[in-house]
Amino acid sequence: MSDLTDRLAQGLPPGAVLVDPDVTAAYRHDMAGFCTAGTPAVVVFPETVEQVQHVLRTATELRVPVVPQGARTGLSGAANAVDGCIVLSMVKLNRILELDPVNRIAVVEPGVVNAELSRAAAELGLSYPPDPSSWESCTIGGNIGTGAGGLCCVKYGVTSEYVLGLDVVLADGRLLSTGRRTAKGVAGYDLTRLLVGSEGTLGVVVRAVLALRPAPEPQLALAAEFPSADAAGAAVCAVMAAGLTPSLMELMDAVTVRAVNELGRMGLPESTQALLLVAFDGPDRVDRLARVAELCRAAGATEVVPADDQAESDLLLEARRLALPALDRLGTTMIDDVAVPRSRLAEMLNGVAVIAERYGLTIGVVSHAGDGNTHPIVIFDASDEEETARAQHSFDEIMGLGLELGGTITGEHGVGLLKRDWLARELGPVGLELQRQLKAVFDPLGILNPGKMV
Ligand SMILES: Cc1cc2nc3c(=O)[nH]c(=O)nc-3n(C[C@H](O)[C@H](O)[C@H](O)COP(=O)(O)OP(=O)(O)OC[C@H]3O[C@@H](n4cnc5c(N)ncnc54)[C@H](O)[C@@H]3O)c2cc1C
Repeated sequence: MSDLTDRLAQGLPPGAVLVDPDVTAAYRHDMAGFCTAGTPAVVVFPETVEQVQHVLRTATELRVPVVPQGARTGLSGAANAVDGCIVLSMVKLNRILELDPVNRIAVVEPGVVNAELSRAAAELGLSYPPDPSSWESCTIGGNIGTGAGGLCCVKYGVTSEYVLGLDVVLADGRLLSTGRRTAKGVAGYDLTRLLVGSEGTLGVVVRAVLALRPAPEPQLALAAEFPSADAAGAAVCAVMAAGLTPSLMELMDAVTVRAVNELGRMGLPESTQALLLVAFDGPDRVDRLARVAELCRAAGATEVVPADDQAESDLLLEARRLALPALDRLGTTMIDDVAVPRSRLAEMLNGVAVIAERYGLTIGVVSHAGDGNTHPIVIFDASDEEETARAQHSFDEIMGLGLELGGTITGEHGVGLLKRDWLARELGPVGLELQRQLKAVFDPLGILNPGKMV
């Protein structure tokens, strides 16, 4: 055993320290394509806060980098190992510690899977709204690390709006508690908000106080077919301008619809250029859907099909959740995540189509349309060097287009390694300098997730 593994093993349970390179190789990277991944020296699985502190203290003493990991479903390379690092897997800190219906909070460890928390909250008539499509596998720690969004954000907002307080182990092993368990609280700088989306670069989340909401009624959805992105974009704008707040408003292009049909035999209409799914979950959901149907027709929808019943509605939402895995089967994919003001959604979609044409590539687009958050997915043959280069150029142009339209290079997946070179373009020199100074305050030796984000 090396000094590092020996020292780590002294404060961890038997079997919690993996060093066999054949086994540790599985922990090298998350689900992002085209990001470098190093070779970890060791992968550890602490089960308590004290054990996490032991790992960080050891890392600081020996000056070894630490890469925190949840379920590794991330799409930016933020959880990728760096050479010689300790991969700190948080999946065994996975208890729901409290569900409190009076204060409407949950206290959880970071390895709890998103859908497990949702199901546990539902048993008490409560909900934890942030719902990434990966919710059956991704962890709350990873969701906090990335500031994850999801399908219901158009009505309920993203992860940062639900994180009230955190316990965080700092790089030197100290335990920091931020935030509150109260409904309100403004004491000091908002370190909780700073930590959400910090991609494991500032501290390791070991406990989170999360806001819960009363469980909404089940959603009822409709599907509307449009002949163009312009018409679909106009419908999205009309719905929002009418003061309606759907619980979901998602858009799939023709490439995505075909891919979903192939994977899930969903029977979605393949003649459409853009398929808009809209759902409401309130008591007046039927009336509101009827109003959306009118607005969609006025914007040029060729067909509007409300779900007949709950089962049909659930099927439409399931179809949307299949979009990424379905497109993944068409070739190697680079998944982009550019958000623009929703009023500019159609310009973004048309711009992506022009880029796809210019580079001779297939780019499927699935969007959280209500948030203006697009996921253009570049599909290519990774064994063809020239095509791969074209794919990378198109990916960059898509980010450039998003910034030109007043948007951001990442709506929810984060910067990680994938978009690190682009961060300066969005933040500007002063913004980037301050972000780097913040990193140095939390982690002066650069132990935590080095080379990611800033
Ligand atoms: C099919 C599919 C669909 C997806 N859909 C969505 C979607 O709708 N919306 C969305 O936002 N994302 C989506 N994602 C991306 C991904 O699921 C999210 O980014 C998710 O939040 C990652 O969680 P994870 O547990 O896998 O974290 P990981 O990928 O393991 O880690 C993500 C980041 O968090 C850090 N981290 C993990 N745990 C901790 C901790 N305890 N303390 C500090 N830092 C930590 C890591 O270092 C890393 O920087 C999707 C991914 C897939 C594969």
